[in-house]
Amino acid sequence: MDKDAVKKVVIIGSGPAGYTAAIYAARANLEPVIYEGFFSGPAGGQLMTTTDVENFPGFPVGVTGPELMEHFKKQAIRFGSICLMEDVVSIDLSARPFSIKGNQSKFLAHSVIIATGAMAKRLDIPGTRDNEFWNKGVSACAVCDGAIPIFRNKDLYVVGGGDAACEEAMFLTKYASKVYLVHRRDELRASKIMAERAMKHPKIEVLWNSVVEVVEGENIVNSVTVKNVKTNELSKRAAGGLFFAVGHVPNTAFLANQVDLLETGYIKVKPGTTQTNIEGVFAAGDVQDYVYRQAITAAGSGCMAALEAERYLTSIEIH
Ligand code: NDP
Repeated sequence: MDKDAVKKVVIIGSGPAGYTAAIYAARANLEPVIYEGFFSGPAGGQLMTTTDVENFPGFPVGVTGPELMEHFKKQAIRFGSICLMEDVVSIDLSARPFSIKGNQSKFLAHSVIIATGAMAKRLDIPGTRDNEFWNKGVSACAVCDGAIPIFRNKDLYVVGGGDAACEEAMFLTKYASKVYLVHRRDELRASKIMAERAMKHPKIEVLWNSVVEVVEGENIVNSVTVKNVKTNELSKRAAGGLFFAVGHVPNTAFLANQVDLLETGYIKVKPGTTQTNIEGVFAAGDVQDYVYRQAITAAGSGCMAALEAERYLTSIEIH
């Protein structure tokens, strides 16, 4: 590979957004280079830590997260994308062509697509760690995992008090016998409409001023211990699962504020597009989407970013 040549497009991130951008860019002969990540997490993004994906169109009997991402990657490579198992350590968007430095490589590029995603926050509660009940009844995404059989007709616990917690609790009522929303304060952070909807739901009960102390089980979760932080009272309760909904952190630290961000750290894009404040720099997927956060919406915005990058390159006469 000629590392001195200026690339037409460099894509940072390898979730559904990054690979979809690569598929479209490669088919448009833009010869994309994708930084897939390495120390920052597995190539494939958040779906690599999910089990069954049942809501991605085209897979009528479901597919596992890692299998789905393998398909994405193969399709990107089939059309000539260059995949690098490296993290981007720094980027300079102040001069053109832009420069991107990885753990080992360095590229100049006429356009950049940022698709580094976000990470669902988890609380460090005993029983919820990777080698404990994580993915065995503990999840940070009800929409991704809630429909799997282990959660059916069980009492489920959602930790958090924001819009996501309310939305996840509502979603889980389809499968659970009851959903408990465990919130550390006496007032929800969620918007009024979402909070009211959750509180009025006959299957949802909010446990105010409460935190989860420990999650226990055998092969999968079977109980949670909840502590009332006002009275210090502990109650061990039967539980089929625990879902964290305590927010997400977009992976934007490496940008060192070179692109306009929202207060929450997500990349700001021009509404209805993937354009950032810097011409030629696009953002796709969860790094700019704090509302939908689905593989399919991330893939859709990856496609948009590649088409917009192609249009941009044509406008500056790079073919
Ligand atoms: P938020 O930051 O809004 O809420 C996080 C919740 O987690 C808060 O209630 C917070 O408690 C709680 N929390 C955080 N840390 C801890 C902790 N250590 N222990 C216990 N509880 C904790 O995140 P969301 O993901 O809910 O929402 C993010 C953004 O996305 C918001 O702007 C939201 O409006 C938006 N959104 C919109 C949706 C929609 O419109 N359909 C759906 C989902 C999200 P506390 O309140 O005490 O700080």
